[in-house]
Amino acid sequence: MSSQTGMRILRRILIFLIVALLLGGALLASSFTAKRIDVSAYPETNTFSGNTVPSPSSLPDVSISLIECGKMYSKASFVYRGGSWSEQYQSGMAAVIVRHPLGSFLFDAGFGTNVRQHAASMPWLMQKLANYDPETPVAEQLRNAATSAPQLSRAFISHSHWDHVSGLEDFPDLEVWLTREEADYVERLPSRELIKQLQPRLKLHPFELSGPPYENFDRSLDLYGDGSVVFVPLEGHTPGSMGMFVNLRSGKRYLFTGDLTWALEGIEIPAERPWMSRRLVDVDEEQVRRSIVRVHNLILKYPDLIVVPAHDRRVHDRVTRFPDWES
Ligand SMILES: [Zn+2]
Repeated sequence: MSSQTGMRILRRILIFLIVALLLGGALLASSFTAKRIDVSAYPETNTFSGNTVPSPSSLPDVSISLIECGKMYSKASFVYRGGSWSEQYQSGMAAVIVRHPLGSFLFDAGFGTNVRQHAASMPWLMQKLANYDPETPVAEQLRNAATSAPQLSRAFISHSHWDHVSGLEDFPDLEVWLTREEADYVERLPSRELIKQLQPRLKLHPFELSGPPYENFDRSLDLYGDGSVVFVPLEGHTPGSMGMFVNLRSGKRYLFTGDLTWALEGIEIPAERPWMSRRLVDVDEEQVRRSIVRVHNLILKYPDLIVVPAHDRRVHDRVTRFPDWES
């Protein structure tokens, strides 16, 4: 081969690499642009054949309180498609306490006492992209509140990711309830995942969402059988992710949606996370889209329903903060 032919081949390889790089870059950039999920692709999510909330006056005296225990920061562009590159998005880490005459429980646990050690289980790229800021852990806030803290009988988790279970380590006596699908998923996870590291010290209690359809969900679990607390599947982010309806006597209704979306915009637009974030955190993105559209249809039917994504601090501000309670 002459040196001229060699140069020609080299030049072609170089041009090919530059074009591939430019195309790849353009593709990556386009994955962040605003794009509404095609709602019409999921018609089954708009069938409301299930139970609904009984008349508020017949509900028991249930109250809720939200405890913030940390923050994370990232660009809004990584939170949902169409999010701004210049806006700094502040994620809230939180736990919700539900007080019911038959027992009080924790829903998610947020950052715990050992959060700095736990954060090492975050995906590497996520550690590079997001900063976090621990606040007083839930267990400590409850201890400090003394008399206004309820006796907790158990904990439920929306899913098994580290930032939802870190605080569970501070509650070694609580049984931790998670869906059967999530428990099976945890079994398959590698040992670096925080839930796997905590597992020997946690009392995991799998349960089935095997109750009747509820609103536009095809199955549910009415925890106390009185319509006040109803769990529903929100699979996709993880195989066994779940949401929690809390229906209060005042007529106020909440739906805590875990990490289905990180911001309320994800439900309202509706818009999924950009590709890079989906790669990092979602197990089944098609299921995530279906679950998002389901909740989107729900808020179209019930505009007063307060949807609370686990990390949307702006929505957390609409939920009464501990040590105060909303009934
Ligand atoms: Zn998650």
